[in-house]
Amino acid sequence: MSTVLISGASIAGPALAYWLGRYGFDVTVVEKADALRGGGYPIDIRGTALDVVERMGLLPDLLAAHVNTRQITFLHPDGSPITLIRPDALTGGVEGRDLEVRRGDLAQALYATVRDDVEFLFNDTITTLDDHADGVDVTFRSGTHRTFDLVIGADGLHSGVRALVFGREEQFHHYLGYCFAGFTMRNDFGLSHEGVIWNTPGRGAALYAVGENDNLHGFLNFARPEPPFDAFRDPAAQRDLVASVFADDGWEVPRMVAAMRTADDLFFDVVSQIHLPRWSAGRVALVGDAAHAPSFLTGQGSSLALVGACMLAGELAISPDHTSAFTAYEQATRPFVELNQALVTEGDATLFPNTAEALAQRNGALRDLTTLPADTGRPAHTARHLPTFTTP
Ligand SMILES: Cc1cc2nc3c(=O)[nH]c(=O)nc-3n(C[C@H](O)[C@H](O)[C@H](O)COP(=O)(O)OP(=O)(O)OC[C@H]3O[C@@H](n4cnc5c(N)ncnc54)[C@H](O)[C@@H]3O)c2cc1C
Repeated sequence: MSTVLISGASIAGPALAYWLGRYGFDVTVVEKADALRGGGYPIDIRGTALDVVERMGLLPDLLAAHVNTRQITFLHPDGSPITLIRPDALTGGVEGRDLEVRRGDLAQALYATVRDDVEFLFNDTITTLDDHADGVDVTFRSGTHRTFDLVIGADGLHSGVRALVFGREEQFHHYLGYCFAGFTMRNDFGLSHEGVIWNTPGRGAALYAVGENDNLHGFLNFARPEPPFDAFRDPAAQRDLVASVFADDGWEVPRMVAAMRTADDLFFDVVSQIHLPRWSAGRVALVGDAAHAPSFLTGQGSSLALVGACMLAGELAISPDHTSAFTAYEQATRPFVELNQALVTEGDATLFPNTAEALAQRNGALRDLTTLPADTGRPAHTARHLPTFTTP
């Protein structure tokens, strides 16, 4: 039985572990956090990814966790309403079919499918990889040494496996010109199953109440010409940066900044994509954001991760060796990924226009969106048909 080490236990990692387990691989997952990480903004599962979760038997659980956002209200800088729309009209999704679940709920559902069959090493990371003819020798931060047949990086936008095998992230990092901070805060606004988005040129703030409970998701997004790489290693610097950018803004922004300051689940990142010339080298391959992060602006990060995990495992199951499997996985998945990455380009976020003119244009377009039917999704979402992998 082939042994596979997967780095990262969020969306791509556990999904890949599930499929590899089904095909008879012996799987270990290493995750740098102490435990499965909850939190994060609600994410969408749509198009081909719905077929993946259906085949995994997860649809009933995910339907139960479906957030069912009723409306999104857009606001002018002074807080007055512009328009109110259905979320699917904005995302190009299909009403009644696409799923929107809290990221943590999806991660938990995926983890539940594998936690009893797969070895999880929490609070650890890979520090060295030595790829040779018979396997990959791995050293962990904990000091352990082990050898696996294959190693897969499912460790996100800032993947450690990618850095070890392909080199510095900056080479593949395609910055889209924004940074964001997401965090949980008290729902003192009377919001329920709805989102409110406030914009001023170059800055946006959103309150997102996914349920009826006392908390909601706060989200602050801002344009910045260069990515603040220095702030990544320093949570205090992240909070200072966000607070200084929004210091003079009105509406509920001051309350949000105060909540961001003390939030214990702050998630700060750049809005970026990963464009890699190859997703594998030797016995190591990448999946999900590590291989091809599309950015949250596409709304497709988790869906691409789910489809990629299913494709990679399927090709490993049916191919004669890992080299042909990695090639087949990439050939079959890359066009789908690139179509979805192309849904946004630099500085072109519909949700966060950078100039007063672009904001006015966006607001006009939003008013028209309210009348659009949402019975078909964007072609990119279903551009990959999910094959059936029949093992020899
Ligand atoms: C806690 C959390 C909150 C998030 N919130 C948002 C959000 O609000 N908006 C948004 O657009 N996207 C968010 N994301 C990213 C989103 O989940 C991904 O874009 C998408 O789902 C693709 O998933 P992925 O599994 O490929 O990567 P990710 O979801 O990024 O998962 C990568 C996993 O690898 C782990 N990891 C990272 N480096 C290492 C390492 N060196 N060794 C071992 N493990 C490592 C991470 O802890 C994480 O569990 C969040 C991710 C996490 C982990």
